[in-house]
Amino acid sequence: MSKPKPVHAPHPFFGHTGSELVIGGIPVSRLAAQVGQTPFYAYDRNVLTARVAELRDALPSEIHLHFAIKANPMPAVVQHMATLVDGLDVASGKEMQVALDTGIAPELISMAGPGKSPAELRQAVAAGITINIESETELDRVDAFARELGVEANIAIRVNPDFELKASGMKMAGGPKQFGIDAERVPDVLRSLSSKAVSFVGLHIFSGSQNLKAEAIIETQCKAVELAERLAQDAPTPIRSLNIGGGFGIPYFPGEPRLDIAPIGTNLEQLVDRAGKSLPEATLVLELGRYFVGEAGVYVCEVIDRKISRDHVYLITNGGLHHHLAASGNFGQVIRKNYPVLVANKLDTNPTETASGSRIISGMLAELGAEPVETASVVGPLCTPLDLLGDKVELPMAQPGDLIAVLQSGAYGPSASPQNFLSHPHVKEILVG
Ligand SMILES: *Cc1c(COP(=O)(O)O)cnc(C)c1O
Repeated sequence: MSKPKPVHAPHPFFGHTGSELVIGGIPVSRLAAQVGQTPFYAYDRNVLTARVAELRDALPSEIHLHFAIKANPMPAVVQHMATLVDGLDVASGKEMQVALDTGIAPELISMAGPGKSPAELRQAVAAGITINIESETELDRVDAFARELGVEANIAIRVNPDFELKASGMKMAGGPKQFGIDAERVPDVLRSLSSKAVSFVGLHIFSGSQNLKAEAIIETQCKAVELAERLAQDAPTPIRSLNIGGGFGIPYFPGEPRLDIAPIGTNLEQLVDRAGKSLPEATLVLELGRYFVGEAGVYVCEVIDRKISRDHVYLITNGGLHHHLAASGNFGQVIRKNYPVLVANKLDTNPTETASGSRIISGMLAELGAEPVETASVVGPLCTPLDLLGDKVELPMAQPGDLIAVLQSGAYGPSASPQNFLSHPHVKEILVG
């Protein structure tokens, strides 16, 4: 028999029972019954836990890990993550409330974002969280609110560095940017702090997102520490927290490598040593969103219709870009590629060995004479050709009622999607396991 080709995308974080994908110990059709509707997002608690543990193992113990909750602000997810990480990063007043609701200490919450409203800044000052200051206007507002409320505001300065994170999916530093204060302005700002009602916590140097190249991340982290050493000379008090950003990516598309964490860990050991001498009071912080949650989530929708148009098979589902903009390719991707898609109730149980030796579960195989395989496009119900979840993917033949799962869906899902577009029902979310 010829080597069977994988049909479904590999799903290394989820098991199966018989033909069903299992999420958090529950077969997917049972889960759909429990949720009471499709589409839904399911996040696996154990995958989240394992992910944080795995990263901690690879990094020096001195490194603090923060979860950027914008990647997945579902309260139950944030609550669980709060028990695993050393801090939460929020990007709005509402996210701040979700973070505070977990019971985590306010000092362990930080707020970033280029356009914090005066109302949000006042809330943040009152709550006592650390505010990452992104402009001099913000600093003045925070100072005024601190005086009004009779407190000292905890602030860090977000620096727009004079370097960028190479090979990153989204560049958020270097050159002119709306984020942070330009590095060359920062010494003046730091010198102004002594006359303000603020307590200086440290620096925040976040450079970009979705990076799969360890060398690029290492280079950026080294440059961030060097920049902090320079800027520390003008700081009113020693740097206590040095947030050197994140940007750790996850593979979405066929052929994308996994980010190699080991060399990043090795480099961070050197940086911890170095900062131990040059910035002795500083804790190094990594701020990650997608890397923690992205692979722990599955989007599940249901085939509503199966249509053949001029020999091209369309699986029309009740899910689409209104719930999962990123999978449709319209959330920052330059070239549209398919997220891993599978027919979640028609999985085969045949393990195959990949070249690297890791066990992946191949899909239902035509060679085994099981379900016939076909090339189909998985689309949503919206009246736009952009509503595409899988373009010409090879899948077992699916019929109305079958469940489609989109993997790698734990980050930037519902909260990053235009749920009201065309006024279809909103998606549900569930944390299982
Ligand atoms: C978006 C963002 C993050 C999270 O980015 P991921 O790519 O999800 O890791 C972290 N910090 C800041 C300041 C951000 O804007």
